[in-house]
Amino acid sequence: MSKRDYYEVLGVSKNADEKEIKKSYRRVAMKYHPDRNSDDPESDEKFKEATEAYEVLMDSEKRGAYDQYGHAGVDPSMGGGGFGGGGNFSDIFGDVFGDIFGGGGRGPGGPARGSDLRYTLDISLEDAVKGTTVEIRVPSLSACDTCDGSGAKKGSSATTCGTCGGAGQVRMQQGFFQVQQTCPTCRGRGKTIEDPCGSCHGQGRVEKTKTLSVKVPPGVDTGDRIRLSGEGEAGPEGGPPGDLFVQMSVKQHPIFERDGKNLYCEVPITFVAAALGGELEVPTLDGRVNLKIPSETQTGKLFRLRGKGVKPVRGGSVGDLLCRAVVETPVNLNKEQKELLQKFQESLGEAGNAQSPRQTSFFEGVKNFFDDMKP
Ligand SMILES: [Zn+2]
Ligand SMILES: [Zn+2]
Repeated sequence: MSKRDYYEVLGVSKNADEKEIKKSYRRVAMKYHPDRNSDDPESDEKFKEATEAYEVLMDSEKRGAYDQYGHAGVDPSMGGGGFGGGGNFSDIFGDVFGDIFGGGGRGPGGPARGSDLRYTLDISLEDAVKGTTVEIRVPSLSACDTCDGSGAKKGSSATTCGTCGGAGQVRMQQGFFQVQQTCPTCRGRGKTIEDPCGSCHGQGRVEKTKTLSVKVPPGVDTGDRIRLSGEGEAGPEGGPPGDLFVQMSVKQHPIFERDGKNLYCEVPITFVAAALGGELEVPTLDGRVNLKIPSETQTGKLFRLRGKGVKPVRGGSVGDLLCRAVVETPVNLNKEQKELLQKFQESLGEAGNAQSPRQTSFFEGVKNFFDDMKP
C-alpha cells in the first residue's frame, strides 16, 4: 500500500507555514472526524492519514526528513533501537480541537489518558525463535508517588472548579448565540488545584525510568509488537495510563538468514567432497546435524532439513532449514598438491568436456553468441 503525499493529503503547498497546515488539517479532520462519520471506515482512514500528515509537517525536524527522503524519512518502523513516543493521538487532538470540542480527547469530567509508548527491542535470532524473557528500562511519565497522581499537595485535594461547577465547559453569550467554550479557569479539567504537590508541580506525574519484564513468545519476527497494557505514560492528574508497545527487531545472525518460517545458511564444501560425495556437519538452531552430500554436487544446490526452521508465533507448521552448498576452491597448495591437480587435469585429456558439463555448455553458448554477431 503506497502512502499519499503529506502535502497532498492536507491540500497545502510545499512551503505552507504552520498556520496554513493547522488550518487545513482542521478542515480535513473536521470533515472526516470519527464522531461525525461513525460508520464509514473510509472516513476513519482519511482522518488517520490527515493526522499522520499533520504530525509530521508540524514537526520541523520530521518535516525536513520528509522533504528530503519522503515517507522513508519519517516512517516510525524504520527507526533504530531504543525508545520513541507512540502515535500520540490525544495530544495533537487537544492542540487543534481544544477550543472546539473542549479539551482534547478527554472524556466528560475525567482526566485525559496517558500516551501510548513504543519501545524497539533488539533480540537475537535464537531468542526470537525460542522465546525469552527480557528486562527493559523505559523512561516514561509515571504517576507521582507523593500525591498519588492527583497533583494536589498531601492532605489537600483538587477542588471542583468554581467557574464551571466541574463541567469543564462554560456557556457564553455571543450576540444572539450561546456558545459553549472550554472553561478558562480549569482549562476543561473541571477541577482546580489550589495547593499543588511540590514533587510534580501539580502535574500528577513525574519522569521516571521503570524496569519491566517482557515475555517474548517463541517465533516472533521483526515488526511483531507486544502490548503491555497500562505501561505507557501515566495520564495527567491521575488519568488512566496509556499502553506500551514493544516492537521486535531481530538482529542479523552470523550463520542463519531468516525468511518467515524458513532459515537459510551457506555450507562450504571441498571440491573433492562435492565431486565424490560425503557426509557433512551442518549447524541448526538445535545443534549440529549430519548431512549427506551426494556425489557431483554443484554450488548452489539446496539441501532441505525439514522442521529445522521456525515455528511461527501465530501458529502453523514449523519451517525448514535450507542449506546452500558452496564449493570452495582449495588455497595454499604446496608443490606436490599442485602437481597432483595438474596430473588430474591431464588425465581428463581432450575428453574433459564430459567432466565439466556446465563449462562446456557455457562456452558453446559464448561461441554461438559471437557467431550470431557476425554480419
Ligand atoms: Zn505530585
Ligand atoms: Zn472550570
